Amino acid sequence: TRRKLIAGNWKMNGLKADGLALARGIVDKLKTAPAPACDLLVCPPTSLVALVAEAVGGSALAVGGQDCHAKASGAHTGDTAAVALADLGCAYVIVGHSERRTDHAETDAVVKAKAEAALAAGMIAIVCIGETLAQRDAGQTIEINRSQLRGSLPEGSNATNTVIAYEPVWAIGTGRVATPAQAQEVHAAIRAELVQKLGADTAGRMRILYGGSMKPDNAKELLALPDVDGGLIGGAALKVADFWAIAESC
Ligand code: 13P
Repeated sequence: TRRKLIAGNWKMNGLKADGLALARGIVDKLKTAPAPACDLLVCPPTSLVALVAEAVGGSALAVGGQDCHAKASGAHTGDTAAVALADLGCAYVIVGHSERRTDHAETDAVVKAKAEAALAAGMIAIVCIGETLAQRDAGQTIEINRSQLRGSLPEGSNATNTVIAYEPVWAIGTGRVATPAQAQEVHAAIRAELVQKLGADTAGRMRILYGGSMKPDNAKELLALPDVDGGLIGGAALKVADFWAIAESC
């Protein structure tokens, strides 16, 4: 059985005091409340990774990056190498988030190379895929997700070093969450594609997260679906109480 992962993607939010308060708030919960039945991860902006990694030190709260470069070093102004994130204490890195694909024109090939850099650095890659509303309306949802998965999955991928995140673009930051039926349909199709690519054993053990307007009031229903193995949380991950409530829904 797959242990669920609840991951907070803080995106470009927070200054030092905010990041510290959020990280400390979650660590405090871990010390004082019954442990939720899931793994917990926060992905602060790069500016706060070192600070947050220090703040969570030794607790069960893992830290991740939101993006990395495909190369380990070199002339890439403004970018961050996967090894550098690992060096700061990151165990995970998100790659191919729809905001990266849109804002920075990242293709599947770029996402795949970044995921491979994450694996080479000893981190777990969270590979994001998801259709736009136009693609859903055109009946292309399954086809788009399968093709993004095929193109973005790193070489050497296995159930331990890779997590998939299905984030329908129309559900991100909109308050418009996928229905349980919509989420389960795509998650099952992703799992079927993973069976093709990696075999039934690996596919059966790989975690597939749902992301897009997951909140305390809809998390339980989504997390109970057979192929939903956790959540990638944006807005609701910026409040300790909401993030914790989602974790408790596992
Ligand atoms: P929201 O939870 O704010 O919709 O963001 C989801 C997301 O993009 C997480 O990566």
